[in-house]
Parts: sequence; structure tokens; C-alpha cells
Amino acid sequence: MTSSIRTQVAIVGAGPAGLILSHLLAQSGIESVILDRRSREDIESTIRAGILEQDTVDLLASIPGSRAHTVGQRHDGIELRVDGVGHRIDFPGLVGRAVWLYPQHEALKDLLAARLAAGQDIRFEATATAVEGVDTDRPRIVGTAADGTALEIDADFVVGADGSRSVVRSALSGSHAGYFREYPFGWFGILTEAPPSADELIYSNSADGFALISQRSATVQRMYFQCDPYLDAETFSDAQIWETLDRRVPGVELKKGPIFQKGVVPFRSFVARDLQRGRIAIVGDAAHTVPPTGAKGMNLAVADVILLARALEALLGRGDEGPIDSFADTARQRIWKAQHFSWWMTSMLHQAPDASDFDRQRQLGELRTVVESEHGRAYLAEAYTGWPMTGLDSVLSPTASSPAAVRSSR
Ligand SMILES: Cc1cc2nc3c(=O)[nH]c(=O)nc-3n(C[C@H](O)[C@H](O)[C@H](O)COP(=O)(O)OP(=O)(O)OC[C@H]3O[C@@H](n4cnc5c(N)ncnc54)[C@H](O)[C@@H]3O)c2cc1C
Repeated sequence: MTSSIRTQVAIVGAGPAGLILSHLLAQSGIESVILDRRSREDIESTIRAGILEQDTVDLLASIPGSRAHTVGQRHDGIELRVDGVGHRIDFPGLVGRAVWLYPQHEALKDLLAARLAAGQDIRFEATATAVEGVDTDRPRIVGTAADGTALEIDADFVVGADGSRSVVRSALSGSHAGYFREYPFGWFGILTEAPPSADELIYSNSADGFALISQRSATVQRMYFQCDPYLDAETFSDAQIWETLDRRVPGVELKKGPIFQKGVVPFRSFVARDLQRGRIAIVGDAAHTVPPTGAKGMNLAVADVILLARALEALLGRGDEGPIDSFADTARQRIWKAQHFSWWMTSMLHQAPDASDFDRQRQLGELRTVVESEHGRAYLAEAYTGWPMTGLDSVLSPTASSPAAVRSSR
């Protein structure tokens, strides 16, 4: 038995990219269907991003029911710690902007609740296996529904918001077609039940390697340290974890508690060769991956989606093909700036396994260039808080609280 659905936009993936896209399309009166291979519970409990750019939070806050401004915490700076000496990067003082610490899974709970309340068709535990009719006006997703039966979605446009192993990307140009870089390290991440060790994030560079002290809430903290990307997290004891963090963040007394989650994230940079072809496009992690050092992945997904929503509104609402024809080129401009920033933060803060004494001294020189110069600090602050997102003003919901209230200290 096959269930067939007809819609305007078929979206694969109910992550941040897919859900925000469906919201923006609905604002323009465009119908969509989302399918995700995971359950709602799984989507709502996977811990990933934490730092959101100001424009991302402004957009989230405009969606009814968002807790971005109430549960999320505004951060006005970070500390760059070099060999035990802290240097604060003051975002509002340098560039008049800020970031927000709002966990991705909390944002996803808000988005799922808002979309379902608005009547959005979301098929959980439904997997897309292929895209057919790639070069036609009626592309189609084929896959399986939650009950195991065959599912087909005929659409005017198909969007792959299906993460780094995107099926839609494979249909567009092959899964590996693009620009790729792998790093010889990853992050060992933990969640611990403890009070915050600092009010703001600490990015700590030491001769021994990098560590990041982040926060989640008053009682749960997120910390990371640089590690071998192939390290099995289960073989590393809690005592070894705390010893590594203490060594990598000298001069800060870390508040320790039970570690209830740990895992290793390998680092990769990737940009797909094609972001759009005919009536198919990819956005978010399906289109690009960045190492998490610059906190750019989800933010880039949001920037892509704003552009694509405007392009689809023009194409499907007015028959205007101009914006969809320029979507990929426009999106790539921000993608490559974010790729550069993520690579730069990563290479400036981590120790490559084959680094020489020269490399270490050069790295310290680079860090001094940033922290001792207002221009250096301002570049970091501008990129970290995020370049203004093209098209944001036009998609902010008119029903949200006044723009002045929503758009905090721009
Ligand atoms: C440790 C870590 C820290 C991070 N920190 C930050 C940060 O601070 N700031 C930031 O901006 N970003 C951060 N990121 C990156 C951020 O989490 C991702 O960039 C973001 O999740 C991308 O959203 P997306 O919607 O494009 O993809 P995803 O969130 O990956 O969503 C894709 C969805 O598609 C579904 N799917 C996949 N294939 C199929 C299929 N065939 N059929 C049906 N459904 C499918 C998946 O189940 C998933 O729900 C971090 C990532 C990690 C790992």
C-alpha cells in the first residue's frame, strides 16, 4: 500500500532548517509537508547547538510561543583565555550586538509546538529514501511512513533540510560533490550537573590543547576539550576528563559534578557544490558543515532558510524565478564567510598533533594580534554575533511584539 500526498513544498527534515522554513512559507500562504525519520521525542532531546546569533534569536522570538527571550540567556561577551590569562571580547562595546545561549533542543520544542498548533503536516518516523523527477516541475519524494508502508510526496518544490547525510543532496549532485576538509581532532563534550563555572563562555587555548567552558542552565553545564577524533568516549574516565579540563583551563576553578552525558564530535568543513537545481534545493547542514568552534551551523541554516523562503514565495506565489535563480549565489556568500570564521577560530585555538614550536609561537602571535587590538577583537565580535541576515526584516512576523522590543540592541 502506498500513501500519496500532494503539496506545494515537500521538506525533508524537521530540524531547525525544516521547521523554520515551514513557518516562513506558511506566513506567505504556501503549504508544506515535513517528514523526519526520527520521533518527536528524539528530535526534542538531542543536545547540539547552544550559541545563537542575534538575528537567529530575533527570528525565533517572532514565532508564537517562543521561549528564546525568557529561557535563553543573552551573552554580551566571551573570554579568550591564552595560557591562563583571560581577555574579554565585549560584543556590544565592539559591534553593538550580542549572542544568546538557547539550546537547540529547546528551540526545537518551541518550533514543533508552534508548527503543530498551526496545523502543519509533520510526518515523524517517516524516512525519505530518494528524490525522483529531479529535472521536472513535479519533483517527488519517495520513502516509508512510520508504519512501514510506502510514502510518496508530489510537490512543486522539494527542500532537503535533512542534515549532513542528506538524501536530497545525493539526488541533486551526488552526496560528496563539493568542498571538504577534515581536521585531525574533534571535541570531547560532556554535560555535568553543576553550577556555572563562569558567567560567559571561556575559549581556552593552552600548549596542551583547547577547551571550551560553556553553560546550559543554573544546574547543568556543557564543557568540551580537544581530543583525537577517533577516541572512544567510554574509555575516558570522569577523573581523566576533569584532569584534562583543569589542565586546559588554568587559573579557573571549574565547578564539578556528576557527568551524565559524554561523546566525541569529529570536525569537518564541507560545502556542497550545488545548492539548487530546478525545483530542488538544500539548506542547513545538508548544504554545509562547519566545525562547532565558531558556533555557526544552526545560524547558517537560518540564514539559508530566510533566503529560500523569499525565493519560494516569489516562485510559487508570483511565478517570479529571479530570486530562486540567485538563491545559491547569495547563500554561498555568507556560507564561505562562516566557513572561514569557523576554520580560523578552530586553527587559532586548537593544537594540531604535528604542530612544531614555530607553529605554537606563531599561534600565540596570532592570538595577541586579536586580543591586543580593538580591530582584532571587533572582527571576532562581528563574525561571532553574526553578520546581518539578508531578508530578515521582511520575514519577521508582523504579529510579534514590536520590532523594537524583539530586536534587542541592534
Ligand atoms: C557539539 C555541537 C555543537 C554545536 N554548536 C552550535 C552552536 O553553538 N551554534 C550553532 O549555530 N550551531 C551549532 N552546532 C551545529 C547545529 O547543531 C547544526 O548546524 C544544526 O542542527 C543544523 O540544522 P539542520 O536543520 O540543517 O539539520 P539537522 O539539525 O541535522 O536536522 C536534520 C533532520 O533531518 C532528518 N533526516 C535526515 N535524513 C532524513 C531522511 N532521509 N528522511 C527523513 N528525515 C531525515 C534528521 O532526523 C534531522 O531531524 C553544533 C553542532 C554540534 C554537533
